[in-house]
Amino acid sequence: MIKKIDHIAIAVRNLQEEIARYRDVLGLTFLGTEVVPEQKVTVAFFQAGDVHIELLEPLAADSPISAFIEKKGGGLHHVSFEVDDVRAQIDALQSRGVQMLDREPRRGAHGARIAFAHPKSFSGVLYELQQKGDAS
Ligand code: ZN
Repeated sequence: MIKKIDHIAIAVRNLQEEIARYRDVLGLTFLGTEVVPEQKVTVAFFQAGDVHIELLEPLAADSPISAFIEKKGGGLHHVSFEVDDVRAQIDALQSRGVQMLDREPRRGAHGARIAFAHPKSFSGVLYELQQKGDAS
């Protein structure tokens, strides 16, 4: 079951510059950063009401985020839904004809379990399913 939008993720070239912009220009509360080696990104977290904004900076040239920035110049990368059970949600979406990029959950920031649906199933939008680490 989808509970809510957890975060909106944005790919950036220069994390320090963008952290300053989101904190000082938008005035959002900066919550810190985390390196996620499994996805080869550094993530900066901001609070925007009940939703987080996550800025993603690639750690390496072979990061999927590097490829995205090369192709599109950065910008909106994905929208993340919080789900109660990521494995059950993968199965449910597949049974409804959604093509999943991840058929098995993998590790995201904060120890969450995540899976991505293929953007071609949703008019080009990349949706992430996220089960909170403390809920598993
Ligand atoms: Zn995400």
